[in-house]
Order: sequence, then structure tokens, then C-alpha cells
Amino acid sequence: MADTSAAKFPLKLLVDKERNRVIFAEADKDFIDVLFTFLTFPMGSIIRLLGNKSGIGSMDRLYQSVANLDERCFNTPACRSMLLHPRSAAEICCKGLAIDVDSDSEPWIYYRCRSSCKSLSLSPVFGARCSCGGTAETPVLASPSLGAEGSKKGFVVDGVNFIVSDDLLVQPASIGTSLGLINELGVEDGNVLEKKVVHLGREEG
Ligand SMILES: [Zn+2]
Repeated sequence: MADTSAAKFPLKLLVDKERNRVIFAEADKDFIDVLFTFLTFPMGSIIRLLGNKSGIGSMDRLYQSVANLDERCFNTPACRSMLLHPRSAAEICCKGLAIDVDSDSEPWIYYRCRSSCKSLSLSPVFGARCSCGGTAETPVLASPSLGAEGSKKGFVVDGVNFIVSDDLLVQPASIGTSLGLINELGVEDGNVLEKKVVHLGREEG
């Protein structure tokens, strides 16, 4: 799999240089797919990726509680692991994008019980308890084509440009949409507008 951790890609911004704010960004599939990836994250992943500083209610404390609790408090060690490293049903669609926001997850890996076990069940969690009493520890490589959308990468269609406002409203790009956002923010003098290109990588994401 290609290492996308250091990848950077350009994003076109329209900036109000007088008030030093972004009016909107013009983006193609690469950026929009990465943006939509955030909707697929389970709560535990959001907190982990933000270093336990998500600020979402008391969720950081809840996550820390699970991390601090003794393993004996859980049905199996895998129960704690799946809370701290939950996996998304959409993770296969999220791999191979311009930025891999959650590079810790390995979407192709599932686990099965020992070879003598008759159960064909697979688990996304290492060490999950099998019905035979054993644990799923043997890695099985899933095919990328098992993604919900076959072999297509990401979520949105290729070849369509989008406009993203600074509060993350995403709309198909059109002159009407652009002018609407400029008007909405009260920009009357077009001379204050400036185009800028920024380069985004995993950290910025
Ligand atoms: Zn088994």
C-alpha cells in the first residue's frame, strides 16, 4: 500500500485579505473524499486521533476511563481493544485516498480462530472470543474489492469540482454558489479577494 502519510496536495482558496478569512475553497474529489472520511470515524477513533483532546462533551474522560480500567473488568481483552481502536464499516473506502487520516487502522486484516476450529467467522478485532472458546488470532487478508463500492476509491464521483465554505458546507461548484457565499459574507468590493493555494497533508487534516 502506498505511504500517504507525507503526501501533500494543493487546495485553492478564495481569501478576503482585508478581514483575513477564507471565503471558500475549491476542491476536487481528492479533498472532498478526505473531508467526508471524518463522518465515518467511530467516536473512539476521533478521540484517539485528537490525542484525547477532542473536547466532545465528556468523551475524552470516557475514553481515558476505558484505557485506565484493569483488563479484568472486561469480558475479554479484545473488548477493551475494540473500544479503544474501534473500526469503521467504511474503512476500506477510506484507504488509498490522498491523505490517510487514520493510518493506524489496517482495513484488510481480519482474524480467525485456529485452523482446527470449524467456525468460519472472522473478526476485525485481534483476540476476539470464538464460539469454540478459542480466540481469533490468525490474520486473514481481505480483498480490497470487498469494499462497499467495489474497487472504486473514495466516496464522490471523479471529475466534479466542489465549493467548501469555511464552516464546511460542501456544494457542487458553480458561479452561483461562489457568488452566493461571497454575498453571504458581506464582501462588496471584489478587490479584497485574493486566490491562494495551500498544500495539505495528514497533519493539516
Ligand atoms: Zn474457534
